[in-house]
Amino acid sequence: MSKTLSATGQCLCGAVTISAQEANKSINVCHCEMCRKWSGPLIASHCGAKVSIEPSDKVTRFTSSAWAERAFCKDCGTHLFYRIVPSNEYIVPIGLFQDSIDFNLETEIFIDEKPACYSFSNDTKKMTGAEVFAMYAPEQ
Ligand SMILES: [Zn+2]
Ligand SMILES: [Zn+2]
Repeated sequence: MSKTLSATGQCLCGAVTISAQEANKSINVCHCEMCRKWSGPLIASHCGAKVSIEPSDKVTRFTSSAWAERAFCKDCGTHLFYRIVPSNEYIVPIGLFQDSIDFNLETEIFIDEKPACYSFSNDTKKMTGAEVFAMYAPEQ
């Protein structure tokens, strides 16, 4: 069985269409302070580089750290993706995609930044921010 599938969706106002050829069925939720400020905990699929977002003039990109950018629809503000720039990896909120996709919440990252006021009941692998950086961080 394939671990990825093609997924497509639109922002709230419909101006932007996002299509991922290789969306990962196993998804993450990030509890880091930035994601929570951006959207609440970010539930998203790693989609690799084969992602199209059209039309580009409706997409505002914001450089959120030295290695990443976040983008939103110019008209309605829907969050479209988090992109790790050095690896050109798109991480797309699953709320954009069709509900019929059978995603599986596998990992909770930055669990050490999760506030006490909520928690997920899914049986997940949990990683601290330090563990995530050790695994994924680009070379400094
Ligand atoms: Zn929109
Ligand atoms: Zn985060």
